[in-house]
Amino acid sequence: MRLLIVEDEPRISEAIKAALEAAGYTCDVTADGEDAWFRGDTDAYDLVVLDLGLPKLDGLTVLKRWRAAGRNMPVLVLTARGAWPERVEGIDAGADDYLAKPFRSEELLARVRALIRRAAGHANALITAGDLSLDTRQMRIFVAGEPVQASPLEYRLVAYLMHHKGRVVPAHELIEHLYGDDDARNANALEALIMRLRKKLGPDAIETRRGFGYLVPDAAP
Ligand code: CA
Repeated sequence: MRLLIVEDEPRISEAIKAALEAAGYTCDVTADGEDAWFRGDTDAYDLVVLDLGLPKLDGLTVLKRWRAAGRNMPVLVLTARGAWPERVEGIDAGADDYLAKPFRSEELLARVRALIRRAAGHANALITAGDLSLDTRQMRIFVAGEPVQASPLEYRLVAYLMHHKGRVVPAHELIEHLYGDDDARNANALEALIMRLRKKLGPDAIETRRGFGYLVPDAAP
């Protein structure tokens, strides 16, 4: 899961980044509206945390431009405490949820999890596919009810495939969502990661469709 954080106060953006990365998300951070608009328009993000008061281009304009261009990733807007006109404007502009500053990181995480699940069409914190289940609150993977030891990267990969279960996810899409801007985007590393996961989850948990991508089948148990 790859997230974009748009916030011009370094103290707040660092706190958000730390909380989201600790929860297993890959984060890009930007502090100005123009750069935010460009990134959201050209990169595939699973969610954006968007401050409204930004240099160069304000958050509402950024959001309206994304929506007008058909960019429909979930957007969580950050507003000042008690500023209800901002919240109304944000939702009118296409925000999926809002959070008033200051907020606790637990509340931020709960809203982020809920928005990502909703965007993927899952209302529940537990996603299952056959023997495999994913607890997005505890960030744990289970096989036939037994917890599996997984690294943060392994968890992120399984989480992405589980959120898109039943769909063949192309390798380039997985790589884009798994690794941040500074990581080497390496298809061989992805293949090695998948092989490790097959040992942990069972040989059929993740299918390879040669030339197309990877799939967690949405099989009935
Ligand atoms: Ca601001």
